[in-house]
Amino acid sequence: MIEITFLGSGGGRFITITQFRSTGGFHIRASKNLYVDPGPGALVRSWRYKLDPRRLDAIFVSHRHVDHCNDLEVMIEAMTGGALKRRGTLIASKSVVYGDEAHTPAVSGYHIDVLESVHTPEPGNKIALGEEELLITPCQHSDPTTIGFRMETVYGDISYIPDTAYFEDLLRWHDGSRVLIAAITRPRDMGIPYHMSTDDAVEMLKNMRKKPEVLIMNHIGMKMHFANPYKEAKYLETVTGVKTYIAKEGFKVMLKNDEINVRTMRPARFV
Ligand SMILES: [Zn+2]
Ligand SMILES: [Zn+2]
Repeated sequence: MIEITFLGSGGGRFITITQFRSTGGFHIRASKNLYVDPGPGALVRSWRYKLDPRRLDAIFVSHRHVDHCNDLEVMIEAMTGGALKRRGTLIASKSVVYGDEAHTPAVSGYHIDVLESVHTPEPGNKIALGEEELLITPCQHSDPTTIGFRMETVYGDISYIPDTAYFEDLLRWHDGSRVLIAAITRPRDMGIPYHMSTDDAVEMLKNMRKKPEVLIMNHIGMKMHFANPYKEAKYLETVTGVKTYIAKEGFKVMLKNDEINVRTMRPARFV
């Protein structure tokens, strides 16, 4: 079984600064433990849902926007036992590791030095992670080095489409994945550049030859939050026939051979 646990579902600047929805990214427990897009709150929320970040094997960061990379350094410290042992893998966009014209790197040399390996792959590259393999996929976002992935597992594929405009090639990269996690930031009729809306998701799913078994809408922006994302999910499900869920803090997806189950975890109590 593979478990995917969301430590938030928020995205975009206004949801991030208000924390109307938490922005911690998500965790995949397969043969290795992978953390994806550790935005603000990733460390705190990991502990809240008993996902010990010291047990991480790898961290994936799609791009150098604060809602995706804010907690990266502290998560590396956790993965490396307080930066005391060389351990773990970082797979990230070039902008995260090297910075760009507008941004410093999201990770210091000190943190890079305690990692066992660092990858800044191109779309089409494959990276082995235990028994799984990550195929790196392209995006069209305001950070031009943004990357997504398609994780190949014995239970079928898990696709992650982070911040991107919709473009036709997305179909080819993600067609046939069993679980599709996508940043669908905007509701119907309210699309903006560099992000996907409900309309884009409909277009994408309608044109897929083999549709996913489940779609998980993630990266809920402020307009989507107030448009009622559950209504948008229902619409999407009705029009495309694909079972659609809205991610939220504590939402867990369990991928098995014959079925996909979901549940919402309760946060651990703190003293
Ligand atoms: Zn974002
Ligand atoms: Zn972004």
